Amino acid sequence: MIYLIGSGPGDPGLFTLKGVECLKQADAVVYDRLAPKELLAYARPDAELIYVGKRPGEPSMPQEEINALLVELGGAEKTVVRLKGGDPYVFGRGGEEALALAEAGLPFEVVPGVTSGIAAPAYAGIPVTHRGVSTSVAFITGHEDPAKGESDVDWARLASGAETLVLYMGVGRLESICVELIAAGRDPETPVACVRWGTLPEQRTVTGTLENIAEKVAEANLKPPAITVIGDVVGLREEGIDWFERKPLFGRRVVVTRARAQAGELSRRLEALGAKVLEFPTIEIRPPEDFEPLDEAIRNLGSFDWVVFTSVNGVESFVKRLRHHGLDLRTVPRQARVAAIGPATAERVEEAGLRVDVTPEEYKAEALIEALAGKALEGKRVLIPRAKVAREILPEKLREARAEVVVPPAYEAVPSSEGKEQLKELLENGEVDCITFTASSTVENLVRAFGGETRQLLSETRVACIGPITARTASKHGIRVDAEAEEYTIPGLVSTVVGLFAADNIVKKGG
Ligand code: SAH
Repeated sequence: MIYLIGSGPGDPGLFTLKGVECLKQADAVVYDRLAPKELLAYARPDAELIYVGKRPGEPSMPQEEINALLVELGGAEKTVVRLKGGDPYVFGRGGEEALALAEAGLPFEVVPGVTSGIAAPAYAGIPVTHRGVSTSVAFITGHEDPAKGESDVDWARLASGAETLVLYMGVGRLESICVELIAAGRDPETPVACVRWGTLPEQRTVTGTLENIAEKVAEANLKPPAITVIGDVVGLREEGIDWFERKPLFGRRVVVTRARAQAGELSRRLEALGAKVLEFPTIEIRPPEDFEPLDEAIRNLGSFDWVVFTSVNGVESFVKRLRHHGLDLRTVPRQARVAAIGPATAERVEEAGLRVDVTPEEYKAEALIEALAGKALEGKRVLIPRAKVAREILPEKLREARAEVVVPPAYEAVPSSEGKEQLKELLENGEVDCITFTASSTVENLVRAFGGETRQLLSETRVACIGPITARTASKHGIRVDAEAEEYTIPGLVSTVVGLFAADNIVKKGG
């Protein structure tokens, strides 16, 4: 089966449930540049991911080749997901792919997506239709140049054909399109908005009128991808419904320096308030230096009474290694029991075909120990495939309960050097609005990464600390601290970050 799926406009939350279901089953995923990368995480770890979008300086794969690729994959009896930006049938050439599949006699289904022409305006505070203002909307490609006289778009007819006009791919030819519409009788004062990277934290909106929007867009240096909305509905944005851009941290780039792996909660809360979050260090998952301990455990899999998974990465690396040996999780002996540290890990295990017997309520090693405490562990063999460097507490406690614990490294989580370069560049260009520290260790990690340069690198950005101890560590390294949370918690730190920008936001709105 081949699924032609719309990925939505960018915000991964706008992807459909049906899309998720299909992705989970896919053997191969063929995806475009505008499909949000986060969605690929729903694919199985062993699914083949094929990028067919543009790479810098290179053209994208020609449509005929994409069609041929889909036919080839589908013909090989694979479950294929073709993931396309927005909706597959709105300026997405999805129709051509469907026709090619139909011609090849292959079965396919279409999963519509939220199109950027509706979503980007919505996130910019513009309803594309509105009672009393606009009763019709047209979706138009701006790809063709009206000035060249070879356009398929009948601008004269469109000018009065619908009240709201939504242009895709039109930034480059905005000027000639506006000229054409005015010539065809559209009021030069008609409000227009260009929304770039709609629904994403990078969203930027430029507004004007048919007469001056091209100039304003050029001045603002607004580049594709952008949606242009033309019509009186654009004015509604000014009436307080531009909810997304009003978020307290909208457009602010905030760096979350993490302790161990868990920075999730802080990042999620900041993102919900509109921030562009960059986690540092970025962690790269690599195979362990030496597979022998894991391979030995796999050879003796039949001897284990328990298999304990402490992370999604642990499950995935273990499954991957099993596959390498032509095996899968069903090789885990029938009588063995399985524990997972939390719901996400348990889900991964079950997706890979094994039932989970124990999952603690709380996502941490201590809770897992408690959940296992009631079980008779004495003399039992316990396998924990996990990261090379992880907390020792779990194996230690299990050993105290007289279990025989085997902890082979299944993967390594290492700070990525790419992440470091990226952060450095952003800091040097003054593109980081705020950096957060949630523990002294996070300050020390940063100082270890940037050494003597740290203080200089942070001079242009605001620094927020979770509490006085962390702040003291920062000061000790010569880092100027702008704010400390009053309540020493993640929500407390988030309010502090919001507070840092509140004054600026008032100025911004007022201006
Ligand atoms: N099938 C897609 C459109 C593909 S054409 C859809 O339904 O959305 C590519 C054009 O879509 C871009 O040039 C731009 O005009 C628009 N676009 C896609 N994602 C966008 C986004 N997040 N913000 C603004 N425009 C976007």
